[in-house]
Amino acid sequence: MLWILISLFFVWCAFREVRASQVAPPGYERAQPLSLPYLAIVTALAVAFAWPPVHRWHFERFLSATATELADGHRARVHCNTVWDTMLDTQMLASGHAVIATGEIGLQHPWCGTLRSYMNHPQRANTEELWALAMLTHESMHVRGEENEARTECQAVQRNYRTAKLLGVPDPIARKNALDYYQIIYQERGRIGGLQSEYYSTECRPGGLMDEHLEDSTWAP
Ligand SMILES: [Zn+2]
Repeated sequence: MLWILISLFFVWCAFREVRASQVAPPGYERAQPLSLPYLAIVTALAVAFAWPPVHRWHFERFLSATATELADGHRARVHCNTVWDTMLDTQMLASGHAVIATGEIGLQHPWCGTLRSYMNHPQRANTEELWALAMLTHESMHVRGEENEARTECQAVQRNYRTAKLLGVPDPIARKNALDYYQIIYQERGRIGGLQSEYYSTECRPGGLMDEHLEDSTWAP
């Protein structure tokens, strides 16, 4: 919001400059010559300050549409928290959270950025980027209606391949990323135990009790 206000200030500066070249400003006898360098600078600043919030808004809309599709049509609204939002968030320590009733998904700073870098180079996704992919799927599964963390996470494990494809990742890479998450990161969780075990189940495997037998499951043959 602050950035938009700063941008609007520069829009006003540009407007004032153009207007002064057409109508004599107060205290002047006639219109003033237009300063093109000044106009170029304030216009560039207006665009530069408007760009981050517009870019973020556009990305949020894209993620919301993706999450809604993953949640089988339950409407999801993804919000990418800025540093400031994250500091004010009551669930600051959770990297992502979702409200089932409203479909609101909050991704903490800088996870949306991590997700964006994943989308830029999925073929060399690192652990954090795979986490970001799985986080979007996980929160979407909450919006779909699941509250239990182990079941939510297992539903996500099976759909990370679908998510990656919805994010525009080419097929074989999407499959590999989703399988890497399941075979490495997810299994590690079971070994670490503690808080992590809340998100893990030995039944989350092909043929296990949590297998939904999805046609496009991450682990489908
Ligand atoms: Zn959860």
